[in-house]
Amino acid sequence: MKIACISGITGQDGPYLAKLLLSEGYTVVGLTRSYNNVNFNNFKYLDIDGQIKIEECDLLDFSSIIKILIKYSPSEFYNLGAQSSVGMSFEQPIGTITYNTQSLLNILESIRLLKLDTRVYQASSSEMFGKVTNLPVTEVTPLHPLSPYAISKASAYWIGINYRESYDIYCTNGVLFNHESYLRSSNFFVKKVIKTSLDIKHGRADFLRVGNIDIKRDFGYAPDYVRAMWLSLQQDKANDYIICSGTSIYLREIITFVFDLLKIPADKLVEDKELFRPTDIEDMYGDNSKAKRLLKWDYSKSFFEVLELLVSEELKNYK
Ligand code: NAP
Repeated sequence: MKIACISGITGQDGPYLAKLLLSEGYTVVGLTRSYNNVNFNNFKYLDIDGQIKIEECDLLDFSSIIKILIKYSPSEFYNLGAQSSVGMSFEQPIGTITYNTQSLLNILESIRLLKLDTRVYQASSSEMFGKVTNLPVTEVTPLHPLSPYAISKASAYWIGINYRESYDIYCTNGVLFNHESYLRSSNFFVKKVIKTSLDIKHGRADFLRVGNIDIKRDFGYAPDYVRAMWLSLQQDKANDYIICSGTSIYLREIITFVFDLLKIPADKLVEDKELFRPTDIEDMYGDNSKAKRLLKWDYSKSFFEVLELLVSEELKNYK
């Protein structure tokens, strides 16, 4: 039986990936920094409660990783654990860069020293391309990170490639563009827009307060993106793949769409300069043709379709 470890099991992607791996017959070991962080409701929501082995593992602690690897000898390790908020990374640059780079270094160094043939998936991010001059972004677009988060993901990306090239360790970078779902935490833009709009509709909030919404991003649907993660580790050789929808939309369009759907008046939107980031990317979208061709990954949802799904899921579960 195949065993897979997933770090960041308490995040958005971890539970969706676990569900997919369980359906493929894997034993899934979910890693968290602390049991206290585990929200079992997310597992219940996906009908996988009780099916994942949860282990405490601090990825900054080399010996914790070694213990997990010796105990399970996993065939696959999905490294999703990270301080993943761009905004937060400006508040906590040192913590973000330290955690997001050293975690992968510890995992790969442990695999190397233990001489395991564990395949590693590194959750890279489109943010590392940053100041792009040519769109769409492809696997060969130069990196120009614009935030501490982006710097951390760019470093981890190169750490993965270095272990692949120097030690023949199977480490694949899945370069993820923004992807959303019901399990997204409320500090991320799309979830915040939908949740706050529902709160406004129910009289629990007065306004939706946002920063710069005249920027464009490439958004997709998390349950589909985790499939690309899994597919990327089923290939003979490790590689790097852009995982995206292929088009970008203005953040303002997302708000307009959700407000229209929920019949929220436009004057409930407040644009606050205080919430602008020190640096921001104006437009970013990727080219997913390599992932589609080599991984046979299928993705064709428009983000408006995804938004309809997300709003209806949120409405069903609104308390
Ligand atoms: P997420 O919801 O933010 O979850 C990440 C998990 O990482 C957390 O649940 C947390 O789990 C762990 N973690 C470790 N150190 C942390 C720290 N210092 N602060 C906060 N959390 C920390 O992430 P996700 O959306 O599932 O994304 C999965 C991976 O894909 C991440 O590496 C992210 O950077 C990358 N990515 C995501 C997107 C996206 O749109 N979602 C786009 C590009 C890349 P414990 O507390 O249980 O340890």
